[in-house]
Amino acid sequence: MKPFQYRDGQLSAEDLAIESLAAEVGTPFYLYSEGAVRGQLRDLKQALIAAGLDPLICYSMKANPSLAIMRALLDEGAGADVVSEGELRRALMAGVPPQKIVFAGVGKTAEEMRAGLEAGILQFNVESRDELLRLNQVAASLGRTATIALRVNPDVDARTHAKITTGTSENKFGIDIALAPEIMSQAAALDHIRLEGLAVHIGSQLTDLSPYAAAFSRLAELFQAARDAGHAMKRLDLGGGIGISYEDGTPPDFPAYAEIAKQAVGHLGIPLIFEPGRAIVGHAGLLISRVLYAKQGINRRFLILDAAMNDLIRPTLYDAWHDILPVAEPGPNTPLLPQDVVGPICESGDIFAEQRPLPELAPGDLVAICAAGAYGATMSSLYNSRLPAPEVLVRGGEFAVVKPRLDYEAMLRQERLPPWLADAPA
Ligand SMILES: *Cc1c(COP(=O)(O)O)cnc(C)c1O
Repeated sequence: MKPFQYRDGQLSAEDLAIESLAAEVGTPFYLYSEGAVRGQLRDLKQALIAAGLDPLICYSMKANPSLAIMRALLDEGAGADVVSEGELRRALMAGVPPQKIVFAGVGKTAEEMRAGLEAGILQFNVESRDELLRLNQVAASLGRTATIALRVNPDVDARTHAKITTGTSENKFGIDIALAPEIMSQAAALDHIRLEGLAVHIGSQLTDLSPYAAAFSRLAELFQAARDAGHAMKRLDLGGGIGISYEDGTPPDFPAYAEIAKQAVGHLGIPLIFEPGRAIVGHAGLLISRVLYAKQGINRRFLILDAAMNDLIRPTLYDAWHDILPVAEPGPNTPLLPQDVVGPICESGDIFAEQRPLPELAPGDLVAICAAGAYGATMSSLYNSRLPAPEVLVRGGEFAVVKPRLDYEAMLRQERLPPWLADAPA
């Protein structure tokens, strides 16, 4: 299903015209298609099952932590991969059973460990010896046992953007694979730790799937070695990172990914955890914005939008490409001219696209910034004291504002003056 298509000259989200949504909600806003989110989860699950694997898909909430999206995915049988107590609370609030929650992250605090233990989550993915010892202590103080997987760093280059590659020995993530056997023995000797698995996550936005083959094979070898050494290993967590095509919208090749997993670990016949984020929600979301001004310079034409880098930072942070569509469908012979699509913030990095061929748009026209469902709203900020874009979920002909626009009063209530500055100068 294509969630966003032109119908009768207007871009639609499922069965709703985006123009009327924009009139009701106000711009800018994030727009998600529930059908697209569910469809991606189903497609991935089907591909893994068709490859003969036994998957639990723990959706990586950091890609888009919306309660509504988590709830829809839960309805499709997903669990959650969380990286903070805040995400853990979201997962629980959305109704995810603790036994489907994995707690990842390189710097869990003792409080976060306590929260996970009290909830009774499936596993902590442990990333260092210090963390292992801390978790053992915290579990002991609660009279509990923490089930863990060791996250190993397989020293495989994911060949993705430098800011989102995580699986080489130069990165802060995971335990170097060569040191893992020793740490497994140490884990086995701790009274409040139960080692049940191994985990990897080599990076995000992998469009070339071949690094997975190397990483998964190394993990399978280590798993076998761990069993041979007498550890009661039960499962593998193969992480996330499946990339999406920002430029042409082709869906990720889940069958090819499943085949790689099958080749590398299928022979073990064990349950597998997957932690996809972007591949589930990336194409399921748009950022809808209105053109405030069109400015013709000497060499360039600028479209100044009411959305900015505080709403969507990916172009600035990762030099990311996002397709931009006019919400009113251009006629077949509409001339396109290169335009810089920018936000109003006083930073030269506040740009969505440079020299992008688009129809000559005018103030008031709506645009859709595509593939904004992952690492969009969740990375938004209050920079420039701008209110971040609200979030809307569409299902068929229905919509709901699932995160309303913050108001200025709420924004200002977050702060305090110190007592010595409390009185305004006369
Ligand atoms: C970020 C992250 C994911 C999800 O990555 P995507 O690229 O969104 O699929 C999964 N697991 C871990 C440990 C992560 O840090």
